[in-house]
Amino acid sequence: MNFEYTEEQEMIRQTARDYAQRELIKDVLERDAKAEFPTEHIKKLSELGFMGMLVDPQYDGTGFDTVSYVLALEEISKVDSSVAVIISVNNSLVAYGLEKYGTEEQKETYLKPLARGDQIGAFLLSEPEAGSDATMQRTTAVKDGDYYILNGVKNWITSANSASIYLVIAQTDPSLGHKGITAFIVEKNSPGITLGPHEDKMGMRSSDTHSVMFNDAKVPAKNILGEVGMGFKIAMKTLEGGRIGIASQALGIASGAYELAAKYAKERKAFGKEIIKHQGVAFKLADMATEIDAARFLCLRAAWLKDQGKPFGIESAMAKLYAAETAMKVTTEAVQIHGGYGYVKEYHVERLMREAKLTQIYEGTSEIQQIIISRAIDEKFS
Ligand SMILES: Cc1cc2nc3c(=O)[nH]c(=O)nc-3n(C[C@H](O)[C@H](O)[C@H](O)COP(=O)(O)OP(=O)(O)OC[C@H]3O[C@@H](n4cnc5c(N)ncnc54)[C@H](O)[C@@H]3O)c2cc1C
Repeated sequence: MNFEYTEEQEMIRQTARDYAQRELIKDVLERDAKAEFPTEHIKKLSELGFMGMLVDPQYDGTGFDTVSYVLALEEISKVDSSVAVIISVNNSLVAYGLEKYGTEEQKETYLKPLARGDQIGAFLLSEPEAGSDATMQRTTAVKDGDYYILNGVKNWITSANSASIYLVIAQTDPSLGHKGITAFIVEKNSPGITLGPHEDKMGMRSSDTHSVMFNDAKVPAKNILGEVGMGFKIAMKTLEGGRIGIASQALGIASGAYELAAKYAKERKAFGKEIIKHQGVAFKLADMATEIDAARFLCLRAAWLKDQGKPFGIESAMAKLYAAETAMKVTTEAVQIHGGYGYVKEYHVERLMREAKLTQIYEGTSEIQQIIISRAIDEKFS
């Protein structure tokens, strides 16, 4: 085994770190307070190649490997995980789906602008009654000549307003259950599409989240991704990779909070010495460091398997489960180590704690990851 990063992986990690520590940090508190989309940062990160990190250069991406993706998302999430989720949804949900299942014409029209970062992608699976149980799709797509007519509501959609390309999952034949679900590429500005209000979220406040309503929205049949009836499989395969992105985001939130807590523990004095010299604080930091390393190895293993073309679904579920739980635990302890200062915005750890919570919920809750892992155990021992 080789635990060293290649020169290219290290360079990508450093580029992401420099950008996060020099640029994202400057206005992250303001963006959080105002729930403001990071438009300028996304432009600059597109120029650095991050919006199309996993896309082949043939389709205008930068074609980095998934290990580099983990490293970059960790560094960005240490400072601003709203930016990380915009990158993650664009790369691992929308661009991945288009690159793997799209026709050459679809790739030319939709994948290339996403990979360059000229346009942003959103992934529309969840509905008011279809969250953890994504088979319960109520959005319908009915064939009408060369078009499909979409009706229904999607909710909790990341980048719903800033995106221009939607990957929409809809029911084309309810009698077939999840085998009657199809994926569509939909242009956001098509007639019949409206957005609900900006969700006023607990954390990751500067990524824009909205519900999306389809009211007789007309989509060309040539915009079907893959084949009719393949939509559920496409969504589940796409989410396997998406989980590596969210796991890396959780990892970054945890390691960002840990770095702040360790520095603070070296500066703050109580009872005549630095608080890091009190074993009660030092042991918290020891546990944080150990759990963060474990989360990082789980993320890197899932990424490595994906890069080798090997199955990685269980490993990405493990990475997401463990990294999200670690993020919640570590950020809570980081606030504790900061004492009263941890409870105000200026010290960043309260924001990281709010951000950590979401990693336990989206792209499959922690309980759903436990279901995926435990089903595999059940199969293995039967
Ligand atoms: C800010 C934000 C951004 C999001 N972005 C997107 C996006 O871009 N695209 C998209 O499609 N979706 C998105 N989502 C939706 C997200 O993926 C869902 O919220 C998530 O899958 C959970 O679904 P739910 O909210 O309906 O919860 P529910 O499915 O109603 O679950 C409620 C609770 O019950 C538990 N539960 C459910 N079933 C079981 C079971 N069988 N066993 C044990 N426990 C169970 C869950 O773990 C959870 O704790 C986003 C959500 C948020 C909050």
